[in-house]
Amino acid sequence: GESNDFSSSSKLKETLKSVFKIGNLRPMQLQTMNATLSGKDCILIMPTGGGKSLCFQLPALLSKGVTLVVCPLASMMEDQVMSLQSHSVDAAMLNAGSDKDILKKVQEDMVDHNASLKLLYVTPEKLAKSKRFLAHVEKMYKAGRFARLVIDEVHCCSELGHDFRPDYKFLEIMKRQFPEVPILGLTATATSSVIEDKFIDTKYPKQSGIIYTFSKKESEEVAADLQSRGIKAGCYHVDVSAQERSRVHRAWIDNSVHVIVATAAFGMGIDKPDVRFVIHHSLSKSIESLYLETGRAGRDEKRSHCIIYYRLQDVFRHSPLVMTEQTGLANLYDMVAYCVDANKCRRSLIARTFGEVLDRSQCNRMCDHCENPCEVEKKDITKLCSSLLQILDKASTGESKLTASKVFDALQGKGPAANRVKGTETSADRSWLEVILTHMLLKQYVREDFHFTPYSNISYIIPGKKADLLRTGVDEVHIELKGARKSV
Ligand code: ADP
Repeated sequence: GESNDFSSSSKLKETLKSVFKIGNLRPMQLQTMNATLSGKDCILIMPTGGGKSLCFQLPALLSKGVTLVVCPLASMMEDQVMSLQSHSVDAAMLNAGSDKDILKKVQEDMVDHNASLKLLYVTPEKLAKSKRFLAHVEKMYKAGRFARLVIDEVHCCSELGHDFRPDYKFLEIMKRQFPEVPILGLTATATSSVIEDKFIDTKYPKQSGIIYTFSKKESEEVAADLQSRGIKAGCYHVDVSAQERSRVHRAWIDNSVHVIVATAAFGMGIDKPDVRFVIHHSLSKSIESLYLETGRAGRDEKRSHCIIYYRLQDVFRHSPLVMTEQTGLANLYDMVAYCVDANKCRRSLIARTFGEVLDRSQCNRMCDHCENPCEVEKKDITKLCSSLLQILDKASTGESKLTASKVFDALQGKGPAANRVKGTETSADRSWLEVILTHMLLKQYVREDFHFTPYSNISYIIPGKKADLLRTGVDEVHIELKGARKSV
Protein backbone atom coordinates (compact mmCIF):
# COMPACT_ATOMS: atom_id res chain seq x y z
CA GLY A 1 0.00 0.00 0.00
CA GLU A 2 0.97 3.64 0.29
CA SER A 3 4.27 3.68 2.02
CA ASN A 4 4.30 6.67 4.26
CA ASP A 5 7.73 6.10 5.70
CA PHE A 6 9.15 7.86 2.65
CA SER A 7 8.84 11.52 3.43
CA SER A 8 12.06 13.04 2.18
CA SER A 9 14.83 12.22 -0.15
CA SER A 10 17.48 12.45 2.56
CA LYS A 11 16.99 8.86 3.70
CA LEU A 12 17.23 7.78 0.12
CA LYS A 13 20.46 9.66 -0.49
CA GLU A 14 21.95 8.40 2.74
CA THR A 15 21.23 4.77 1.88
CA LEU A 16 22.49 5.31 -1.65
CA LYS A 17 25.85 6.41 -0.28
CA SER A 18 26.22 4.09 2.66
CA VAL A 19 25.04 0.87 1.02
CA PHE A 20 25.62 1.25 -2.71
CA LYS A 21 28.51 3.76 -2.55
CA ILE A 22 26.85 5.85 -5.23
CA GLY A 23 26.79 9.64 -5.00
CA ASN A 24 23.89 10.70 -7.19
CA LEU A 25 20.85 9.21 -8.78
CA ARG A 26 20.16 9.57 -12.45
CA PRO A 27 16.96 11.53 -13.19
CA MET A 28 14.88 8.56 -14.31
CA GLN A 29 16.00 6.61 -11.28
CA LEU A 30 14.73 9.23 -8.89
CA GLN A 31 11.39 9.51 -10.68
CA THR A 32 10.94 5.77 -10.72
CA MET A 33 11.79 5.42 -7.05
CA ASN A 34 9.40 8.20 -6.15
CA ALA A 35 6.61 6.58 -8.11
CA THR A 36 7.09 3.11 -6.69
CA LEU A 37 7.68 4.35 -3.15
CA SER A 38 4.42 6.26 -3.29
CA GLY A 39 2.63 3.04 -4.15
CA LYS A 40 2.16 3.51 -7.89
CA ASP A 41 2.44 0.82 -10.52
CA CYS A 42 4.95 1.75 -13.13
CA ILE A 43 7.12 0.54 -15.94
CA LEU A 44 10.65 1.76 -16.47
CA ILE A 45 12.23 1.53 -19.90
CA MET A 46 15.92 2.25 -19.78
CA PRO A 47 18.77 1.08 -21.95
CA THR A 48 20.98 -1.73 -20.71
CA GLY A 49 23.49 -0.37 -18.25
CA GLY A 50 21.22 2.56 -17.41
CA GLY A 51 20.87 1.41 -13.82
CA LYS A 52 17.50 -0.26 -13.60
CA SER A 53 18.37 -2.57 -10.72
CA LEU A 54 18.99 0.27 -8.33
CA CYS A 55 15.44 1.50 -8.96
CA PHE A 56 14.06 -1.39 -6.96
CA GLN A 57 17.03 -2.35 -4.81
CA LEU A 58 17.16 1.00 -3.06
CA PRO A 59 13.38 1.23 -2.49
CA ALA A 60 13.52 -2.34 -1.19
CA LEU A 61 15.85 -1.20 1.58
CA LEU A 62 13.58 1.71 2.46
CA SER A 63 10.39 -0.34 2.58
CA LYS A 64 9.07 -2.61 5.26
CA GLY A 65 9.03 -6.28 4.28
CA VAL A 66 10.24 -8.17 1.24
CA THR A 67 10.51 -7.09 -2.39
CA LEU A 68 9.78 -9.97 -4.71
CA VAL A 69 11.77 -9.80 -7.93
CA VAL A 70 10.71 -11.92 -10.87
CA CYS A 71 13.63 -12.45 -13.16
CA PRO A 72 13.71 -14.75 -16.18
CA LEU A 73 17.44 -15.36 -16.25
CA ALA A 74 19.15 -17.48 -13.62
CA SER A 75 22.57 -15.94 -14.26
CA MET A 76 21.19 -12.45 -13.80
CA MET A 77 19.60 -13.43 -10.50
CA GLU A 78 22.85 -14.91 -9.27
CA ASP A 79 24.82 -11.80 -10.21
CA GLN A 80 22.41 -9.50 -8.46
CA VAL A 81 22.10 -11.58 -5.31
CA MET A 82 25.87 -11.88 -5.03
CA SER A 83 26.38 -8.18 -5.58
CA LEU A 84 23.72 -7.33 -2.96
CA GLN A 85 25.26 -9.70 -0.45
CA SER A 86 28.64 -8.08 -1.01
CA HIS A 87 26.96 -4.81 0.03
CA SER A 88 25.66 -6.57 3.16
CA VAL A 89 22.07 -6.61 1.92
CA ASP A 90 20.09 -9.72 2.82
CA ALA A 91 18.96 -11.12 -0.54
CA ALA A 92 18.04 -14.62 -1.65
CA MET A 93 16.97 -16.45 -4.78
CA LEU A 94 14.78 -19.42 -5.51
CA ASN A 95 14.56 -21.48 -8.65
CA ALA A 96 13.45 -24.99 -9.50
CA GLY A 97 16.78 -26.38 -8.30
CA SER A 98 17.06 -24.59 -4.94
CA ASP A 99 17.88 -26.91 -2.08
CA LYS A 100 15.44 -27.64 0.69
CA ASP A 101 17.26 -25.82 3.47
CA ILE A 102 17.36 -22.56 1.56
CA LEU A 103 13.73 -22.96 0.58
CA LYS A 104 12.72 -23.52 4.17
CA LYS A 105 14.72 -20.57 5.47
CA VAL A 106 13.30 -18.24 2.82
CA GLN A 107 9.76 -19.35 3.53
CA GLU A 108 10.23 -18.61 7.20
CA ASP A 109 11.79 -15.24 6.49
CA MET A 110 8.91 -14.28 4.23
CA VAL A 111 6.51 -14.10 7.17
CA ASP A 112 8.90 -13.32 10.01
CA HIS A 113 8.72 -9.64 10.99
CA ASN A 114 12.18 -9.86 12.52
CA ALA A 115 13.85 -11.35 9.47
CA SER A 116 16.34 -9.18 7.61
CA LEU A 117 15.46 -10.55 4.15
CA LYS A 118 14.87 -7.58 1.83
CA LEU A 119 14.94 -8.95 -1.71
CA LEU A 120 13.80 -12.32 -2.95
CA TYR A 121 14.52 -13.26 -6.57
CA VAL A 122 12.43 -15.93 -8.23
CA THR A 123 11.97 -17.24 -11.75
CA PRO A 124 8.64 -16.55 -13.48
CA GLU A 125 7.87 -20.27 -13.45
CA LYS A 126 8.27 -20.39 -9.68
CA LEU A 127 5.59 -17.80 -9.20
CA ALA A 128 3.35 -18.95 -12.02
CA LYS A 129 3.55 -22.70 -11.62
CA SER A 130 4.38 -23.51 -8.02
CA LYS A 131 1.12 -23.42 -6.07
CA ARG A 132 3.05 -24.11 -2.93
CA PHE A 133 5.27 -21.12 -3.40
CA LEU A 134 2.32 -18.92 -4.28
CA ALA A 135 0.69 -19.96 -1.01
CA HIS A 136 3.74 -18.64 0.81
CA VAL A 137 3.57 -15.40 -1.09
CA GLU A 138 -0.02 -15.08 0.02
CA LYS A 139 1.00 -15.60 3.62
CA MET A 140 3.63 -12.95 3.19
CA TYR A 141 0.99 -10.59 1.81
CA LYS A 142 -1.39 -11.30 4.69
CA ALA A 143 1.44 -10.71 7.14
CA GLY A 144 1.89 -7.26 5.57
CA ARG A 145 5.38 -8.15 4.40
CA PHE A 146 4.91 -8.10 0.62
CA ALA A 147 6.51 -4.72 -0.06
CA ARG A 148 6.67 -4.63 -3.83
CA LEU A 149 6.56 -6.82 -6.92
CA VAL A 150 9.29 -6.23 -9.46
CA ILE A 151 9.27 -7.82 -12.87
CA ASP A 152 12.59 -7.62 -14.60
CA GLU A 153 12.61 -7.85 -18.39
CA VAL A 154 8.89 -7.28 -18.26
CA HIS A 155 8.61 -7.37 -22.06
CA CYS A 156 8.95 -11.14 -21.81
CA CYS A 157 5.46 -11.19 -20.36
CA SER A 158 4.10 -9.54 -23.46
CA GLU A 159 6.42 -10.80 -26.12
CA LEU A 160 5.76 -14.40 -25.39
CA GLY A 161 2.21 -13.27 -25.89
CA HIS A 162 -0.38 -15.91 -26.13
CA ASP A 163 1.91 -18.85 -25.42
CA PHE A 164 2.80 -17.25 -22.18
CA ARG A 165 -0.61 -16.16 -21.13
CA PRO A 166 -2.59 -19.28 -20.34
CA ASP A 167 -0.56 -20.08 -17.23
CA TYR A 168 0.88 -16.65 -16.75
CA LYS A 169 -1.41 -13.67 -17.25
CA PHE A 170 1.07 -12.17 -15.03
CA LEU A 171 0.28 -8.64 -14.15
CA GLU A 172 -3.46 -9.14 -14.17
CA ILE A 173 -3.36 -12.10 -11.85
CA MET A 174 -0.85 -10.50 -9.53
CA LYS A 175 -2.80 -7.26 -9.34
CA ARG A 176 -6.02 -9.09 -8.57
CA GLN A 177 -4.43 -11.30 -5.96
CA PHE A 178 -2.28 -8.64 -4.31
CA PRO A 179 -4.12 -5.39 -4.99
CA GLU A 180 -2.13 -3.38 -2.46
CA VAL A 181 1.29 -4.31 -3.74
CA PRO A 182 2.88 -1.81 -6.12
CA ILE A 183 4.20 -3.37 -9.29
CA LEU A 184 7.37 -2.16 -10.95
CA GLY A 185 8.18 -3.46 -14.43
CA LEU A 186 11.65 -3.03 -15.90
CA THR A 187 12.80 -3.45 -19.43
CA ALA A 188 15.38 -2.29 -21.91
CA THR A 189 13.39 -3.24 -24.95
CA ALA A 190 9.69 -2.60 -24.57
CA THR A 191 7.98 -0.81 -27.39
CA SER A 192 5.51 1.61 -25.95
CA SER A 193 2.63 -0.49 -27.19
CA VAL A 194 3.68 -3.01 -24.55
CA ILE A 195 2.95 -0.39 -21.96
CA GLU A 196 -0.27 0.63 -23.61
CA ASP A 197 -1.28 -3.06 -23.60
CA LYS A 198 -0.69 -3.21 -19.90
CA PHE A 199 -2.39 -0.02 -19.14
CA ILE A 200 -5.46 -0.98 -21.19
CA ASP A 201 -5.65 -4.51 -19.84
CA THR A 202 -5.44 -3.53 -16.22
CA LYS A 203 -7.40 -0.28 -16.21
CA TYR A 204 -9.88 -0.43 -19.05
CA PRO A 205 -10.24 -3.91 -20.50
CA LYS A 206 -12.74 -4.04 -23.38
CA GLN A 207 -13.51 -0.35 -23.06
CA SER A 208 -13.26 2.40 -25.63
CA GLY A 209 -10.17 4.43 -26.22
CA ILE A 210 -8.12 6.32 -28.77
CA ILE A 211 -4.38 6.18 -29.32
CA TYR A 212 -2.94 9.05 -31.35
CA THR A 213 0.30 8.42 -33.21
CA PHE A 214 2.69 10.67 -35.10
CA SER A 215 2.63 8.87 -38.43
CA LYS A 216 0.44 6.58 -40.50
CA LYS A 217 3.06 3.87 -40.34
CA GLU A 218 3.21 4.11 -36.59
CA SER A 219 -0.54 3.83 -36.22
CA GLU A 220 -0.46 0.65 -38.30
CA GLU A 221 2.34 -0.79 -36.21
CA VAL A 222 0.71 0.02 -32.90
CA ALA A 223 -2.67 -1.31 -34.04
CA ALA A 224 -1.07 -4.56 -35.25
CA ASP A 225 0.87 -4.87 -32.01
CA LEU A 226 -2.22 -4.42 -29.87
CA GLN A 227 -4.16 -6.91 -32.02
CA SER A 228 -1.41 -9.48 -31.53
CA ARG A 229 -1.83 -9.00 -27.80
CA GLY A 230 -5.52 -9.73 -27.97
CA ILE A 231 -6.85 -6.18 -27.88
CA LYS A 232 -9.48 -5.33 -30.49
CA ALA A 233 -7.85 -2.40 -32.24
CA GLY A 234 -8.50 -0.66 -35.56
CA CYS A 235 -6.36 1.72 -37.54
CA TYR A 236 -7.47 5.09 -38.91
CA HIS A 237 -5.55 7.53 -41.10
CA VAL A 238 -5.90 9.26 -44.47
CA ASP A 239 -4.45 6.39 -46.51
CA VAL A 240 -6.99 3.94 -45.14
CA SER A 241 -9.81 3.72 -47.68
CA ALA A 242 -12.92 5.73 -46.92
CA GLN A 243 -14.91 2.52 -46.75
CA GLU A 244 -12.56 0.91 -44.25
CA ARG A 245 -12.40 4.09 -42.19
CA SER A 246 -16.12 4.20 -41.86
CA ARG A 247 -16.22 0.48 -41.01
CA VAL A 248 -13.64 0.96 -38.23
CA HIS A 249 -15.43 4.01 -36.93
CA ARG A 250 -18.77 2.19 -36.79
CA ALA A 251 -17.22 -0.88 -35.18
CA TRP A 252 -15.75 1.40 -32.54
CA ILE A 253 -19.07 3.15 -31.95
CA ASP A 254 -20.83 -0.19 -31.40
CA ASN A 255 -17.93 -1.50 -29.25
CA SER A 256 -16.85 -4.39 -31.46
CA VAL A 257 -13.55 -2.53 -31.86
CA HIS A 258 -12.29 -1.09 -28.58
CA VAL A 259 -9.28 0.97 -29.48
CA ILE A 260 -8.79 3.23 -32.48
CA VAL A 261 -5.17 3.90 -33.32
CA ALA A 262 -5.12 7.02 -35.43
CA THR A 263 -3.23 10.01 -36.69
CA ALA A 264 -4.64 13.44 -35.91
CA ALA A 265 -6.90 12.84 -38.96
CA PHE A 266 -9.27 11.04 -36.62
CA GLY A 267 -11.25 13.67 -34.90
CA MET A 268 -14.01 15.39 -36.74
CA GLY A 269 -17.40 14.39 -35.57
CA ILE A 270 -16.35 11.99 -32.85
CA ASP A 271 -18.99 12.08 -30.22
CA LYS A 272 -18.78 8.87 -28.31
CA PRO A 273 -19.65 9.45 -24.67
CA ASP A 274 -17.82 6.52 -23.10
CA VAL A 275 -14.26 7.01 -24.33
CA ARG A 276 -12.27 5.95 -21.27
CA PHE A 277 -8.77 6.83 -22.42
CA VAL A 278 -6.87 8.91 -24.95
CA ILE A 279 -3.21 8.02 -25.25
CA HIS A 280 -0.72 10.13 -27.17
CA HIS A 281 1.85 7.71 -28.44
CA SER A 282 3.89 10.78 -29.34
CA LEU A 283 3.37 14.37 -28.24
CA SER A 284 0.77 16.59 -29.95
CA LYS A 285 1.89 19.49 -32.11
CA SER A 286 0.42 22.02 -29.70
CA ILE A 287 -1.38 22.23 -26.39
CA GLU A 288 -4.45 23.31 -28.34
CA SER A 289 -4.41 20.07 -30.34
CA LEU A 290 -3.83 18.14 -27.16
CA TYR A 291 -6.83 19.81 -25.62
CA LEU A 292 -9.07 18.90 -28.56
CA GLU A 293 -7.79 15.34 -28.75
CA THR A 294 -7.95 14.58 -25.05
CA GLY A 295 -11.34 16.29 -24.87
CA ARG A 296 -12.76 13.22 -26.57
CA ALA A 297 -12.36 11.24 -23.37
CA GLY A 298 -14.95 11.17 -20.63
CA ARG A 299 -17.81 13.03 -22.26
CA ASP A 300 -20.13 11.00 -20.03
CA GLU A 301 -18.29 12.66 -17.13
CA LYS A 302 -17.03 9.34 -15.83
CA ARG A 303 -13.42 9.02 -14.85
CA SER A 304 -11.10 8.67 -17.83
CA HIS A 305 -7.38 8.79 -18.44
CA CYS A 306 -5.21 10.81 -20.80
CA ILE A 307 -1.57 9.87 -21.18
CA ILE A 308 1.23 11.36 -23.26
CA TYR A 309 4.38 9.45 -24.10
CA TYR A 310 7.10 12.00 -24.47
CA ARG A 311 10.56 11.50 -25.91
CA LEU A 312 12.90 14.21 -27.16
CA GLN A 313 13.42 12.48 -30.50
CA ASP A 314 9.74 13.04 -31.28
CA VAL A 315 10.22 16.78 -31.04
CA PHE A 316 12.61 16.57 -33.98
CA ARG A 317 10.04 14.66 -35.99
CA HIS A 318 7.37 17.26 -35.36
CA SER A 319 9.38 20.45 -35.66
CA PRO A 320 10.15 20.39 -39.42
CA LEU A 321 6.43 19.95 -40.07
CA VAL A 322 5.23 22.82 -37.93
CA MET A 323 8.02 25.32 -38.62
CA THR A 324 6.27 26.58 -41.74
CA GLU A 325 3.30 27.68 -39.65
CA GLN A 326 3.77 31.10 -38.16
CA THR A 327 3.57 30.11 -34.52
CA GLY A 328 4.08 26.42 -35.16
CA LEU A 329 7.40 26.03 -33.44
CA ALA A 330 6.43 28.16 -30.46
CA ASN A 331 3.30 26.05 -30.01
CA LEU A 332 5.30 22.86 -30.24
CA TYR A 333 7.76 24.09 -27.64
CA ASP A 334 4.89 24.99 -25.32
CA MET A 335 3.78 21.40 -25.71
CA VAL A 336 7.29 20.20 -24.86
CA ALA A 337 7.40 22.44 -21.80
CA TYR A 338 4.10 20.91 -20.73
CA CYS A 339 5.56 17.41 -21.08
CA VAL A 340 8.75 18.07 -19.15
CA ASP A 341 7.31 20.33 -16.48
CA ALA A 342 8.22 19.16 -13.00
CA ASN A 343 5.23 20.05 -10.88
CA LYS A 344 2.76 22.60 -12.25
CA CYS A 345 -0.92 21.75 -12.48
CA ARG A 346 -1.55 20.35 -15.97
CA ARG A 347 -5.00 21.83 -16.17
CA SER A 348 -3.70 25.28 -15.25
CA LEU A 349 -1.11 24.97 -18.02
CA ILE A 350 -3.82 24.12 -20.52
CA ALA A 351 -6.07 26.90 -19.30
CA ARG A 352 -3.21 29.37 -19.69
CA THR A 353 -2.87 28.44 -23.36
CA PHE A 354 -6.40 29.73 -23.85
CA GLY A 355 -5.73 32.86 -21.88
CA GLU A 356 -7.60 31.63 -18.86
CA VAL A 357 -6.54 31.30 -15.28
CA LEU A 358 -7.30 28.16 -13.37
CA ASP A 359 -6.28 27.96 -9.79
CA ARG A 360 -4.62 24.77 -8.66
CA SER A 361 -7.34 24.18 -6.10
CA GLN A 362 -9.89 23.93 -8.94
CA CYS A 363 -8.08 20.90 -10.32
CA ASN A 364 -9.42 18.66 -7.57
CA ARG A 365 -6.30 16.55 -7.86
CA MET A 366 -7.36 15.35 -11.27
CA CYS A 367 -3.97 15.77 -12.92
CA ASP A 368 -0.92 13.72 -12.05
CA HIS A 369 0.96 16.63 -10.53
CA CYS A 370 -1.88 17.63 -8.24
CA GLU A 371 -2.66 14.06 -7.37
CA ASN A 372 0.90 13.39 -6.40
CA PRO A 373 2.72 16.64 -5.69
CA CYS A 374 6.47 16.77 -5.48
CA GLU A 375 9.12 19.22 -4.43
CA VAL A 376 11.14 20.86 -7.13
CA GLU A 377 14.86 20.39 -7.01
CA LYS A 378 17.06 22.99 -8.67
CA LYS A 379 20.20 21.83 -10.39
CA ASP A 380 23.02 23.93 -11.71
CA ILE A 381 23.73 22.75 -15.23
CA THR A 382 25.90 25.65 -16.36
CA LYS A 383 28.95 23.48 -16.98
CA LEU A 384 27.15 20.99 -19.20
CA CYS A 385 25.38 23.77 -21.10
CA SER A 386 28.67 25.46 -21.75
CA SER A 387 30.23 22.19 -22.96
CA LEU A 388 27.32 21.68 -25.29
CA LEU A 389 27.67 25.18 -26.68
CA GLN A 390 31.39 24.76 -27.24
CA ILE A 391 30.67 21.70 -29.34
CA LEU A 392 28.02 23.54 -31.35
CA ASP A 393 30.33 26.51 -31.78
CA LYS A 394 33.09 24.37 -33.16
CA ALA A 395 30.67 22.74 -35.57
CA SER A 396 29.29 26.04 -36.82
CA THR A 397 32.70 27.61 -37.38
CA GLY A 398 33.74 24.47 -39.22
CA GLU A 399 30.50 24.83 -41.19
CA SER A 400 29.34 21.39 -40.26
CA LYS A 401 26.04 20.86 -38.52
CA LEU A 402 25.14 18.46 -35.78
CA THR A 403 21.93 16.61 -35.05
CA ALA A 404 20.97 16.23 -31.40
CA SER A 405 22.19 12.69 -31.42
CA LYS A 406 25.62 13.72 -32.78
CA VAL A 407 25.88 16.39 -30.09
CA PHE A 408 25.26 13.78 -27.40
CA ASP A 409 27.86 11.50 -28.96
CA ALA A 410 30.43 14.28 -28.95
CA LEU A 411 29.70 15.09 -25.30
CA GLN A 412 30.13 11.46 -24.39
CA GLY A 413 33.41 11.29 -26.26
CA LYS A 414 31.98 9.14 -29.03
CA GLY A 415 31.72 9.64 -32.79
CA PRO A 416 34.11 11.52 -35.11
CA ALA A 417 36.96 13.33 -33.38
CA ALA A 418 36.20 16.39 -35.54
CA ASN A 419 32.94 16.88 -33.64
CA ARG A 420 34.51 16.72 -30.20
CA VAL A 421 36.02 19.47 -28.10
CA LYS A 422 38.74 18.91 -25.54
CA GLY A 423 37.60 19.24 -21.95
CA THR A 424 33.88 18.83 -22.65
CA GLU A 425 33.66 15.10 -22.23
CA THR A 426 31.14 13.97 -19.65
CA SER A 427 30.06 10.69 -18.11
CA ALA A 428 26.46 11.94 -17.96
CA ASP A 429 24.07 9.50 -19.57
CA ARG A 430 21.95 10.18 -22.58
CA SER A 431 18.67 10.69 -20.78
CA TRP A 432 20.25 13.41 -18.67
CA LEU A 433 21.80 15.07 -21.72
CA GLU A 434 18.36 15.03 -23.32
CA VAL A 435 16.90 16.80 -20.32
CA ILE A 436 19.56 19.46 -20.62
CA LEU A 437 19.18 19.95 -24.36
CA THR A 438 15.42 20.20 -23.97
CA HIS A 439 15.87 22.89 -21.37
CA MET A 440 18.28 24.77 -23.61
CA LEU A 441 15.87 24.62 -26.54
CA LEU A 442 13.02 25.91 -24.43
CA LYS A 443 15.15 28.72 -23.03
CA GLN A 444 16.50 29.52 -26.52
CA TYR A 445 20.13 28.92 -25.64
CA VAL A 446 20.14 26.71 -28.71
CA ARG A 447 17.78 26.40 -31.62
CA GLU A 448 16.88 24.05 -34.41
CA ASP A 449 18.01 24.62 -37.94
CA PHE A 450 16.00 22.85 -40.58
CA HIS A 451 17.31 21.07 -43.57
CA PHE A 452 15.08 19.65 -46.25
CA THR A 453 16.11 16.90 -48.61
CA PRO A 454 13.83 15.16 -51.10
CA TYR A 455 13.70 12.22 -48.71
CA SER A 456 13.52 13.59 -45.23
CA ASN A 457 13.67 16.61 -43.00
CA ILE A 458 16.55 16.85 -40.64
CA SER A 459 16.83 19.27 -37.80
CA TYR A 460 20.21 20.36 -36.59
CA ILE A 461 21.04 21.99 -33.31
CA ILE A 462 22.91 25.30 -33.45
CA PRO A 463 23.70 27.99 -30.86
CA GLY A 464 20.70 30.15 -30.10
CA LYS A 465 20.22 33.75 -29.15
CA LYS A 466 21.12 33.41 -25.49
CA ALA A 467 24.30 31.53 -26.26
CA ASP A 468 26.62 34.53 -25.96
CA LEU A 469 25.49 35.29 -22.47
CA LEU A 470 26.29 31.80 -21.39
CA ARG A 471 29.64 31.66 -23.12
CA THR A 472 30.89 34.75 -21.37
CA GLY A 473 29.86 33.19 -18.09
CA VAL A 474 27.37 35.92 -17.20
CA ASP A 475 24.43 33.63 -17.02
CA GLU A 476 23.97 30.62 -14.86
CA VAL A 477 21.57 27.95 -15.94
CA HIS A 478 19.43 26.13 -13.48
CA ILE A 479 16.98 23.43 -14.19
CA GLU A 480 13.92 22.40 -12.24
CA LEU A 481 13.57 18.71 -11.72
CA LYS A 482 11.07 16.55 -9.97
CA GLY A 483 12.44 16.09 -6.49
CA ALA A 484 11.12 14.05 -3.62
CA ARG A 485 7.42 13.32 -3.46
CA LYS A 486 5.62 15.09 -0.71
CA SER A 487 3.94 12.62 1.53
CA VAL A 488 0.24 13.21 1.20
P1 ADP B 1 20.63 -2.24 -16.21
O1 ADP B 1 19.89 -3.24 -15.37
O2 ADP B 1 19.80 -1.05 -16.55
O3 ADP B 1 21.29 -2.83 -17.41
P2 ADP B 1 22.33 -2.09 -13.93
O4 ADP B 1 21.26 -1.95 -12.94
O5 ADP B 1 23.00 -3.41 -14.03
O6 ADP B 1 21.83 -1.64 -15.35
O7 ADP B 1 23.40 -0.95 -13.64
C1 ADP B 1 24.54 -0.79 -14.47
C2 ADP B 1 25.68 -0.21 -13.67
O8 ADP B 1 25.43 1.16 -13.36
C3 ADP B 1 25.90 -0.90 -12.33
O9 ADP B 1 27.27 -1.14 -12.18
C4 ADP B 1 25.39 0.09 -11.32
O10 ADP B 1 26.07 -0.04 -10.08
C5 ADP B 1 25.69 1.41 -11.98
N1 ADP B 1 24.81 2.50 -11.53
C6 ADP B 1 23.48 2.45 -11.42
N2 ADP B 1 22.98 3.64 -11.02
C7 ADP B 1 24.04 4.47 -10.89
C8 ADP B 1 24.18 5.84 -10.50
N3 ADP B 1 23.13 6.60 -10.19
N4 ADP B 1 25.42 6.36 -10.48
C9 ADP B 1 26.49 5.60 -10.80
N5 ADP B 1 26.42 4.31 -11.15
C10 ADP B 1 25.21 3.74 -11.21
